[in-house]
Amino acid sequence: MAVVPILEYPHSILRQRAKSVASIDKTVFRLADDLMDTLVDSGGVGLAANQIGSLRRLIALKMPEDEEPSVYINPRIVRREGVREVSEGCLSFPDHYGIVQRSMWVSVTGLDRKTNMFRICADGLLAQAFEHETDHLDGILFIDHLLSHQHLYEYPDEEADSEHEPSDERLVDAVQ
Ligand code: ZN
Repeated sequence: MAVVPILEYPHSILRQRAKSVASIDKTVFRLADDLMDTLVDSGGVGLAANQIGSLRRLIALKMPEDEEPSVYINPRIVRREGVREVSEGCLSFPDHYGIVQRSMWVSVTGLDRKTNMFRICADGLLAQAFEHETDHLDGILFIDHLLSHQHLYEYPDEEADSEHEPSDERLVDAVQ
């Protein structure tokens, strides 16, 4: 179990498609533990295997209300409904966020940490996280979903010149 470095854009592995896990062995459990440890250490909501340099279909999620992270093996979104606009960031794009379109809810299947089959219907942040992380496994990044180039913002640096910070007004415009 280890906290490992999170790869940042434009690292090429973030654009590659991860392969399904065909057999569960010790290396899968080790990767699952690394994913969970690294996610918890980062304080983020989700992390995909690509982001720590592995092209296997594993993701880890930890909602703000969760005490422990969860790992999903070969997660697959089998149904999605509705469209909404949400603010989104990514651990591979430190300090950036943008407005993207995501589903209202999703239905996801795969294997859990104990290799049991699961099927989860999710809405809200959990649905968004499943979409974001399964995208990673296909080499798709949240910037691919940006509504326009104007919608990628840098979080204001406290030291930065205030003239270069995105104003609240611009943000409100972006959401509309
Ligand atoms: Zn991400």
